[in-house]
Amino acid sequence: MKKAFVLLVALAGMMAFAMNSWASEAAHGGHAAASSVSPAEALSNIVNGNNDFVQHHKASYFKGYATAQHPFVTMITCSDARVHPTVFNADPVDHVFVIRNVGNQIQNSCGSIDYGILHLHTPVLLIIGHTHCGAVKAAMGNYINESPCIINELNGLHLPLKHDDGKGTFEERWLLNVERNVDYQVDFCIKKYANLVQSGKLAVVGVVYDFINAYGAGEGRLVVTNINGITDVDMIKKDPHMKLVGDELKNTIVLRKTKGM
Ligand SMILES: [Zn+2]
Repeated sequence: MKKAFVLLVALAGMMAFAMNSWASEAAHGGHAAASSVSPAEALSNIVNGNNDFVQHHKASYFKGYATAQHPFVTMITCSDARVHPTVFNADPVDHVFVIRNVGNQIQNSCGSIDYGILHLHTPVLLIIGHTHCGAVKAAMGNYINESPCIINELNGLHLPLKHDDGKGTFEERWLLNVERNVDYQVDFCIKKYANLVQSGKLAVVGVVYDFINAYGAGEGRLVVTNINGITDVDMIKKDPHMKLVGDELKNTIVLRKTKGM
């Protein structure tokens, strides 16, 4: 009986938080804020932006990848407009095989990820979560009023977030859940691609893109939180996959808020 009451209280709390999810955030200029430009302005940005690109790149730039792509990394990240491969590669063209969905989830795009790993044979599968992720925030609340497609996409975040004990401020819990989600996706992949991981042909790397300096390593940092399921920061720093990274940089970028799953 007492258990049922606790569950009811918890559910009521979740319902109250629902009012604060994606939709109302837009009204407050938050994560889901609508664009302030018209469709015509947006389209003009696109075609003029591409015109600039064409004018600044010679034909020889495109010849190297006219018949095949050569990415060194398969990257799955959230669709959030603040997160892009340019944060680690100035020109990601032909270098980064990109898959995106809300909440950087493997199962929602598993065919595309299979293509990067099994056909393009990239040596790294990089899973990028990020600070202030609206998808993780939405999944922490109630999103029943979203469209059926959004509901379907967010349902996949329930499992990684199940370790949330509700302690601490919302901002703290939010970041912990971003980390937990990255851990969950890494864990899923090291099982899915176990043969490649065990033979050393593939490293599954979990990172959090931090544009609010939540980790104290500077705005814009890709914080390394997980390599092939290793979540202990000292173990990550010693991991052979990090052997080409200098000690000073390792000590700056290998950080965690949670203890791992
Ligand atoms: Zn996000």
